[in-house]
Amino acid sequence: MAGNTTFTMIKPQAVADGNMGNIIAKIIDGGYTIKALKFTRLTKEQAMKFYAVHKDRPFYSHLVEFMTSGPIIAAILEKENAVEEYRKYIGSTDPANAEPGTIRALFATSMEKNAVHGSDSDENAIIEGNFFFSEFERF
Ligand code: ATP
Ligand code: MG
Repeated sequence: MAGNTTFTMIKPQAVADGNMGNIIAKIIDGGYTIKALKFTRLTKEQAMKFYAVHKDRPFYSHLVEFMTSGPIIAAILEKENAVEEYRKYIGSTDPANAEPGTIRALFATSMEKNAVHGSDSDENAIIEGNFFFSEFERF
């Protein structure tokens, strides 16, 4: 059965562009409940660990550099079938292919600087949420 929790990050470019408020408003408008929220900056070690599945891809080191280039927002979101629903809501990895009205269509500037992260499985949603939040930071 699909879980009801996902994890998201608003990436450094979207924060730097002044879109964190717009993106949080869009998330709430989409019917997601914010269970945890944090404004922070990834260390190189954290970014390498977070994207370790891509460690052999050619874009990995640039991605780590980008993800550590400025602060991010991390959040745990709740909605029925959250992982699948949220990935549809943010749109394709490449904003050129993202459906109009999706978060990436609205706020991404490139394949790398694609505004937000969304977990790709229930298992990863739990791992990623635990990466950023203690039980005392969840509501
Ligand atoms: P995310 O995991 O951030 O939600 P995603 O699941 O849509 O994105 P992944 O394949 O997991 O996409 O890639 C992780 C991130 O790596 C992408 O969001 C993007 O920032 C970057 N990325 C992926 N493919 C490329 C590429 N070909 N060139 C540059 N950056 C890329
Ligand atoms: Mg991914």
